[in-house]
Amino acid sequence: MKALRWHGAGDLRLEEVSDPPPPKPHEAVVEVSWCGVCGTDLHEFLEGPHMIRSGPHPLTGARPPLALGHEFSGTVLALGSEVSGIQVGDRVTADPVWRCGTCYWCVRGEYHICPKSGSVGLASPGGFADRVTVPLAGLTRLPDNVTDEMAALAEPLAVGLHAVTRAGVGPGDNVLVVGGGPIGFAVVLAARLAGAAGLYVSEPLKERREKLLDLGVTEAFDPRETDVRREVFLRTGRIGPDVVIDATGVASLASQAVATVRRGGRVVLAGVGHGNVEIDMGQLVFYERSVLGTLGYNFDIPRVIDLMSTGRLDASALLTGRRSLDEGAEVFADLARDRASHLKVLLTPKGL
Ligand SMILES: [Zn+2]
Ligand SMILES: [Zn+2]
Repeated sequence: MKALRWHGAGDLRLEEVSDPPPPKPHEAVVEVSWCGVCGTDLHEFLEGPHMIRSGPHPLTGARPPLALGHEFSGTVLALGSEVSGIQVGDRVTADPVWRCGTCYWCVRGEYHICPKSGSVGLASPGGFADRVTVPLAGLTRLPDNVTDEMAALAEPLAVGLHAVTRAGVGPGDNVLVVGGGPIGFAVVLAARLAGAAGLYVSEPLKERREKLLDLGVTEAFDPRETDVRREVFLRTGRIGPDVVIDATGVASLASQAVATVRRGGRVVLAGVGHGNVEIDMGQLVFYERSVLGTLGYNFDIPRVIDLMSTGRLDASALLTGRRSLDEGAEVFADLARDRASHLKVLLTPKGL
């Protein structure tokens, strides 16, 4: 079969590789319809390995070169013996997180922070291929009214839903989202579903701000021209937002988020970031502010599919490009050069 494999930084190759082996009891093999290019994939492409391990992954044993891609939909080709509720031929999307299933966190249902966890497309061959092996536990069957294209967006949307759930956003809350990229978009959509009354976004790119306004955000600010903290403070009755969700992973913006959220409010860090964040302890202690991290999703993908199926979640604004997997290496190079021009690009191995 065809696979777009990561060999090292800047080195993606469309190659002929052998088909996935028959699934183990806890695995399934899916024929891929669409697979989305994620910021994580671009990082691996540009300057990886970050999340890819150079040696064998402790849980899956896989090592590079391997196909990237963890945001996919498709049709079930083969199922392991531990199956329940899914059949060969079902259209599905998948939670791509491999988990040990027996550790303290897995037993609590917090499989996404299992110490051995890893994702399809980083810890095992991914969805930029004709076929992909996935954790059986992660499969979600698609209702007839959710297309394969929309289902390939469920994974990034689940990141937004999980962040908003972690933030405890409730009806009437004022929410500031920092960063209007794909994850910022997903957070906006989820915060609106959770009942946010005032929904503000800070995003430097004009095209993205306009798109967010079309989606119905209250206001979208250019942080290079506007004192976002002050503007949101004034628009919330000189109180400040109940929740600030950072979707950038930039350390200095995390400190700013703490200074921006209202007294007693919550800051949730959803951007994948590293490095030290400087926070004035007084900003937390005297004003009872909370700061939380959020990672990926935890049983959120089936909820996204339900929201799509019931018409409550229209994610089409997120989808900005459809290309063939054959052009995958060029798509990556284009996105690396100009990330701003797209939110989510989907690749298909089936040809357009
Ligand atoms: Zn992703
Ligand atoms: Zn575990």
